[in-house]
Amino acid sequence: MDENCTFCKIIKGEIPSSKVYEDEEILAFNDINPATPIHILVIPKKHIKSLAEMKDGEEKIISKIYKVINEIAEKQGFKEKGYRVIVNCGKDAGQEVGHLHFHLLAGIKMGDKIV
Ligand code: 5GP
Ligand code: ZN
Repeated sequence: MDENCTFCKIIKGEIPSSKVYEDEEILAFNDINPATPIHILVIPKKHIKSLAEMKDGEEKIISKIYKVINEIAEKQGFKEKGYRVIVNCGKDAGQEVGHLHFHLLAGIKMGDKIV
């Protein structure tokens, strides 16, 4: 936990969020400023600053996050149509919140350009 981290505050319930999924290690909630009709953030509850700052052993949570993403896609009914997963890492990628998060985007036909 990092006292000044927005997503740690969401995990603790200090900042309200619209939760989509939760277990002991992972939380998923709707993005406050959705880029697509469905825009969910999937995060580890452990405060990992970014993909680049992952420590040995922490990679296990990544595969679990992908499993959860598939479960959410199935439950919300967009698994068939498709979805996009994005992780911004560092300044050039425009990472704004320093707590590892996976953007799960769906609900619209997306273009093939990333930037
Ligand atoms: P980044 O640019 O770091 O990859 O993405 C951060 C994301 O977090 C943005 O899409 C932004 O809208 C979202 N976000 C930032 N603050 C909050 C918040 O307090 N609540 C929720 N639900 N989303 C947030
Ligand atoms: Zn955090």
